[in-house]
Amino acid sequence: MLFRTAVRAAPSRTMTQLQQTTSKVRIHRLPRPQATLQRTLKRLPLGDTPTAQRRSSVFPASSRGVWARVNPLWDHWPIQISKEELAELGVDIDKGEQISVEDVLKRWDPTDVLDDAEGGLKVLSSKHRLKQEPTLLGVAEPVLNTSLPQLDVGDAQDLNAPTEAGTSAARDALVDILSGRKVLSSELGAEEDVEYGPWSTRYTGHQFGQWAGQLGDGRAISLLETTSELGGRQEIQVKGAGRTPFSRQADGLAVLRSSVREYLGAEAIAALGIPSTRSLAILTSPVEVAREMGYEPSSLVARVAPSFIRIGHFEAMNPGEAGRNSHTLFLGGRWQQEEKDENDPLGGQGNLEGLRDLTAWVKDDVMKFEGGVKDWFLEVVKRNAETTALWQVYGFMHGVLNTDNISILGLTIDYGPYAFMDQFNPGHICNHSDPTGLYSYKNQPNRVAFALDSLGSALLPLLGYEKLKGKVPAEGWAEGASTDDVRKWEEAGLEAINSWGEDYTRTVELTEREAWGRRFALRTYQDSDDRDVVQDFLSLLRAHGVDFHASLRELSNFHPSRVDDDAYRRSFAQRWVANTTIDLKSDSVMRAEEGITAWLRVYAARATSAAEKAAWEKDAPDGEWEEIRTVAMRAVNPRFVLRQWLLEETIKTVDEALKAKDVTGARKVLARVLDLATHPFESYGEDGECAANPSDEGVERMRLCGLGPQNFLGFQCSCSS
Ligand code: AMP
Ligand code: MG
Repeated sequence: MLFRTAVRAAPSRTMTQLQQTTSKVRIHRLPRPQATLQRTLKRLPLGDTPTAQRRSSVFPASSRGVWARVNPLWDHWPIQISKEELAELGVDIDKGEQISVEDVLKRWDPTDVLDDAEGGLKVLSSKHRLKQEPTLLGVAEPVLNTSLPQLDVGDAQDLNAPTEAGTSAARDALVDILSGRKVLSSELGAEEDVEYGPWSTRYTGHQFGQWAGQLGDGRAISLLETTSELGGRQEIQVKGAGRTPFSRQADGLAVLRSSVREYLGAEAIAALGIPSTRSLAILTSPVEVAREMGYEPSSLVARVAPSFIRIGHFEAMNPGEAGRNSHTLFLGGRWQQEEKDENDPLGGQGNLEGLRDLTAWVKDDVMKFEGGVKDWFLEVVKRNAETTALWQVYGFMHGVLNTDNISILGLTIDYGPYAFMDQFNPGHICNHSDPTGLYSYKNQPNRVAFALDSLGSALLPLLGYEKLKGKVPAEGWAEGASTDDVRKWEEAGLEAINSWGEDYTRTVELTEREAWGRRFALRTYQDSDDRDVVQDFLSLLRAHGVDFHASLRELSNFHPSRVDDDAYRRSFAQRWVANTTIDLKSDSVMRAEEGITAWLRVYAARATSAAEKAAWEKDAPDGEWEEIRTVAMRAVNPRFVLRQWLLEETIKTVDEALKAKDVTGARKVLARVLDLATHPFESYGEDGECAANPSDEGVERMRLCGLGPQNFLGFQCSCSS
């Protein structure tokens, strides 16, 4: 198990250091950064009543605020209440007595202080909240090791620990806070004008290329921010914890299948070295959620990132022409009419002060970026270009690249109908709800460019002001500006960033080349490799229905110096086809082997060229350059891929285990897949090590590394989640 030890040695050293240097604390004692989002950005004008936190509120473009207070509410929506519960509230419906929604929701108000220990946030709840019965299904260890080194989760990672509450105080604290059973809040300090507590933010966006107005946070609620030397700034957010003012007509909840997909997907992407939001935990509860297919179990993912700000947040501050003049109202919602400001000659153009606030927050506080707005915009372009390029090289399809699903930090965010490529097809559409393939594999770089263009448009006034006048002041920079002034800034802004598109394309290409260079182990990657190695390889896969990731993994074991040995070459091509295809007819097998053999010759010629060999021999004093090359290739070409068949199977197994009240069983299944997804480069029986001494676990892991059944190849998911 060479790879297992190689891959795991490094993190465990870091862990030991950590254990020595950091004392762990429970979630409500995590240190908060000096600048928090709530103290830095303006709050939206919403009351603190329970209904103000739940009812759809659509804010006009002139709103400066970014966020609203929202306490999690993990319950049915529309609210369901039994006769017994009504009786408890002193209401007898048989006598025709009535109760207001506000009073029903008030039961969720966290008014009882349960813990007010010094050096942390207060823990609050209510009798009704405490009736919740959340169950922890998993905690993702990699995130604890890197992003949240200080977080004490008690025995949450012990799969055999009893699942009932009250067995481990630290684990209970975690589950209580993540589920919303208990709510965190700060004392109202002298220098603070708002209590620190859970919040949701407001963003708009373009969906499938069209302006779609206000979209979220529909079901994401952030609980707190923390910071540490190792993890840097981190925000902990739960997805699926109930209604927010930005939920539109939806329930704010998430079903088990979508949470499992996000929980595993984010960690799989991160393990491949692709920037992503990270998964901290997954929970379920007896609350059921209504979807097209009927009632489904609800679930919640806790996720972590330095920030969850998206391009859509910037569009909300300065929507274009379309956004300025169109508003969608939602049933039961309200339009937040702000008082007409006589000093606002821009007439709802957007909120330029808010635009600056948000830009400064992300640029200075989150990213600690030292340059101006233009250079920062180009940094955002670069980060997203790099991430997109890695998606392409790792055959990842996001599925819904709307501008509200593009992270300002270049993180892969919002895992919905995503998929990893199996049989290679550049036109593949992973999202069942995308009939025209706007977000197909090959379109991803263009669609991310569209999103970045939307960001650029939103930033134009700031970019132009900076170009014409220098640093944008913190307050009042756009005060008294006329529409003409803004147009002038916009024009200058356009000029300032006129070549961003070329920068983007160049970064995508460069990052793709570097990543392909690693996957094909070509240290002297050259222009002709784009065509002769990469494109021809992909065409070969496409022509013969061959699996993408499995092919690159097979290739990792190839010895280019032996390509002229007929028997070796033939048996290598045979093994390749056998391990990367399902149910091929024999004449197709022969054609595939022939194609592969021809390509192998070209590839081997490149890999054994004098320059290439020399580049590897530097690291191989014993002349074993091909062994070193294989190790390097296997460290970047995953043996395990989070395939659609496996996700579907995992969801089904977890669901069935939970129905049978086998929580431990459900946890074990999830933990195994998570472990595979977070250690994708190990060999898992590939070298025959299981054959000699097969354990059930080893055999199962080998199976999970398989291509799966034919009917799941190219399986599409829908957005419904
Ligand atoms: P998506 O395209 O999946 O990112 O969804 C667009 C927006 O719809 C998200 O940003 C959410 O705010 C919102 N949304 C999706 N599902 C729900 C839900 N069940 N409840 C409330 N909002 C939702
Ligand atoms: Mg989204």
